[in-house]
Amino acid sequence: MYLNSNDNTKLEEQSTTFLVVGGGIAGVSCAETLALYHQEERIILLTESNVIKTVANLEPVARYIYKFDVKEHSLNDKNSETIGLAPTITTIVDQLQHIEALENRVITKDGRIILYKSICLCTGAKPQLIRGDNPRVIGIRDTDSVLNLQQRLKDATTVILLGNGGIASELAYELRGVEVHWVVKDGHIASTFVDPGAAFFFQESWRHKSKDGCTSGTSSSPKSILKRLRYDESLVDQSKGAIKHGAALGPDWHIKFALQGNASTSLESPVMHFKTYVQDLTEKDSCLLVTLANGEQIKCNFLVSATGVEPRHDYSCSLSLTIASDGGFAVNEMMETNVKDIYAAGDVCTSSWEPGENWFQMRLWTQARQMGSMAGRSMGAKLMNEIIYQDFCFELYGHVTQLFGYSVVLLGRYNGQGLGTNYEILLRTTPQKEYIKFVIQNGRLRGAVLIGNTELAETCENLILNGIDLTPYGDDILNPDIDIDDYFD
Ligand code: FAD
Repeated sequence: MYLNSNDNTKLEEQSTTFLVVGGGIAGVSCAETLALYHQEERIILLTESNVIKTVANLEPVARYIYKFDVKEHSLNDKNSETIGLAPTITTIVDQLQHIEALENRVITKDGRIILYKSICLCTGAKPQLIRGDNPRVIGIRDTDSVLNLQQRLKDATTVILLGNGGIASELAYELRGVEVHWVVKDGHIASTFVDPGAAFFFQESWRHKSKDGCTSGTSSSPKSILKRLRYDESLVDQSKGAIKHGAALGPDWHIKFALQGNASTSLESPVMHFKTYVQDLTEKDSCLLVTLANGEQIKCNFLVSATGVEPRHDYSCSLSLTIASDGGFAVNEMMETNVKDIYAAGDVCTSSWEPGENWFQMRLWTQARQMGSMAGRSMGAKLMNEIIYQDFCFELYGHVTQLFGYSVVLLGRYNGQGLGTNYEILLRTTPQKEYIKFVIQNGRLRGAVLIGNTELAETCENLILNGIDLTPYGDDILNPDIDIDDYFD
């Protein structure tokens, strides 16, 4: 069932068993899990944008690691089958404003009162902007923010890209017809995901492709993605003047938008500025004059700040919800906050349980999906007075993505996170083809970076989870003439 802000029901009090807030991957995964196990119970999905995200084409890359597409659905379709949600889920487009925790009810921006037995907060995150008050500084999160970027690029000749995570890396690779200055605090690119060796592999491949003229104007990703359904969040009715944000963009978001600047010459881009940061911003001749910590000054049309996200919870609660040091709602392994009947999942929450030795939190859609489903199971179990355990997926960090046109699988403590200096690295690289890195501690595989079509994901997953002692195999474990699968059959 779909209710919009103009329905007469809007001021009426309604009650539901489960209330899920947020139409991103976490919220939708939570609502769908609840719908699967509790078909007789009422579920309301409350979200401020009329575009929701669902997971599609789930495909195993290993036993516990999946890759998937993120599909957008417009709630204007008014047809739950087209939207792809279970029929027991009622969607309401409205904004959560206040939670009366002792009375188990919420109040929305449009004046709805919804009573619940349990609620899951999946309200995502927003870009952490340096100098967010400057109109020439923009962030990327949802479709609207990319349309804004696209619009600005039309008149732009020079752009500064700040940050070294996935978004900055994708943009550096995808922006065309504009001089890009990429400012990173580290000594190498894409540091959130890879080490200097892999960064070098990417840069060399990139240089090689640029020389062959392969990158200009072509898209790096598979054609099938072009078949995705597309909805335009800018069509959302914002007549009431409210600022509504959609869910975070899905994988390969840049394929949907031509990110083309206004520079006529083919410039050597991006110009790298390593180990520095933005010290000052001033307006000069209708441009932004950016001073870097190393003293360099760059004049640009605008700056894209891709320096991470901060959890978004711009609503109040009558009891104070514990906030972790990174600004997220602290949750335990059952995705419960400190307040009874209030759960949280996805980018808005911070895992505050003792993690397994091969898992850590990163604000990614893989984890948004896993946390959303876990919250759904947990809310359902509480209702039924059942005891459940945390999903196995939280035993192993696993992320599948595309960087600079290559398939990338990251497993366990792939960058030695939390291992101190007590680990070894085993490396195999074939320029422009593959980059394989094993992180080994006390003879055991603790993490892996697999770039290219290595087909090693499942083997690595097993090795990490089983903790097999690899010492007897020595360096042969990555010998290209030996199929390591044979060792462990
Ligand atoms: P969101 O997707 O942000 O959803 C939050 C929802 O809550 C939205 O529907 C919003 O409208 C709604 N909401 C917020 N406040 C309220 C309120 N008060 N009332 C009602 N509704 C509300 N991850 C990867 O794994 N791989 C990548 O390659 C990758 N690339 C990315 C590229 C970009 C440009 C961005 C922005 C993110 C990327 N991410 C990537 C991160 C990933 O998109 C997020 O981790 C994930 O989508 C988080 O899902 P979520 O459901 O927690 O939050």
